[in-house]
Amino acid sequence: MTRPQAAERRELVLRAAVRARLLDPEDALLAAFVDLDAVAANVAALHRAFPDGVDVLHTFAAKANCLVPVLERLRGHGMGCEVASPGELAQALAAGFAPDRIVLDSPAKTRRELRHALDLGVAVNADNLQELSRIDALLDDRGSRSRIGVRLNPQVGSGSIGATSTATATSKFGIPLADPGNAELLLRAYRDRPWLTWVHVHVGSQGCTLDLMAEGVARAVAFAEQVDSAAGRRQVVGIDIGGGLPVDFTGDTADPGFDAYVDRLRARAPVLFDGGYRVITEFGRALLAKSGFTAAFVEYTKTSGGRRIAVTHAGAQVAARTVFMPDAWPLRISAHGPTGAAKEGEPTVQDVAGPCCFSGDLVARARPLPLLEPGDIVALLDTGAYYATTPFGYNSLPEPAVHGVTVGADGTVRFEVLRPAQTVEDLLARTGG
Ligand SMILES: *Cc1c(COP(=O)(O)O)cnc(C)c1O
Repeated sequence: MTRPQAAERRELVLRAAVRARLLDPEDALLAAFVDLDAVAANVAALHRAFPDGVDVLHTFAAKANCLVPVLERLRGHGMGCEVASPGELAQALAAGFAPDRIVLDSPAKTRRELRHALDLGVAVNADNLQELSRIDALLDDRGSRSRIGVRLNPQVGSGSIGATSTATATSKFGIPLADPGNAELLLRAYRDRPWLTWVHVHVGSQGCTLDLMAEGVARAVAFAEQVDSAAGRRQVVGIDIGGGLPVDFTGDTADPGFDAYVDRLRARAPVLFDGGYRVITEFGRALLAKSGFTAAFVEYTKTSGGRRIAVTHAGAQVAARTVFMPDAWPLRISAHGPTGAAKEGEPTVQDVAGPCCFSGDLVARARPLPLLEPGDIVALLDTGAYYATTPFGYNSLPEPAVHGVTVGADGTVRFEVLRPAQTVEDLLARTGG
């Protein structure tokens, strides 16, 4: 049911976008769209997945889509925000998040960043023991309302994508729990700091199984219980379980979904649901990826050594991971005619290339699609997170506009600008011109 529905909805949006000239073969060659209705539905599904008896703050990982109007929407849907840099913190504050609904997680926080977060009352998860000593020094002369935790590396191993697995034995993130002596060191760190009241884990992003993620959370919960039993009281008040729910890039249904993850957590870390600990989540991709697509015009088509290639305006500048790691980050692509209508025709194997001047700039290889022609439109599906809003600078290509979309009950499509397209003047100014 969802497959044709989602495809029909995309077609409706694309047709409306062409009519509104948000996609134009001269003036708007490339644009990204975020379905705000779908985002609202995803956030509602996340809220429903956790039982009422658990005090949970769902934060959105700003790096997945850092546009302030997107963050504002998410705040309106009752979310907090997870940030990992001064820029993301500024975006979260600009979006109106109260400091106590923001969590700061970067592995490289400077003293000044820490001071700023502690002064504001933003929650902080320390990545390592050196950072903890910096926090000691800062708290000595100011005190803070911030919730403070430590990021543990539960060392549960890698998912299928090494580059986004964060809980391997040798990960750069957090304090490795199983390294010799670390458990004792950590227990002492909590014993010596009564203000250390949270435990944080984030096992990875994409490519991790639910079991791997749940196992990481279970180890964090077990550690929290150890701290509490050593303290003889509930010192750890909450567990930040991170994000990382994988997204299925092969179809239109959101699989596995938050419910399935919560089921797995219930099985592996039941203590999380007995109401004793508060919970924070930090999902990014699972909330936004499937709610967005990126559309680009086909400029030329050619055959080279027997290989059919469509040269489009979407390449590495908006799909860096797919271009540089095509096996780990394949994208579905749909073909449309110049009006946005779905293109019919015999599937023909072709490559879909981008505009960048390097030969690996391909968003799909040997993909069976109706034969693309100049003036057609390709849509890169499931790109609402970590794509157009995580640009790769190359050939001074401008960052495209990002449009929010809502569809009324009568099928009326409404657009709002979430980010205007970068102009050549903007680019020139950025490059000292
Ligand atoms: C990237 C990240 C997230 C979000 O990961 P998703 O895969 O987008 O859900 C959450 N927490 C931390 C610490 C992260 O680095």
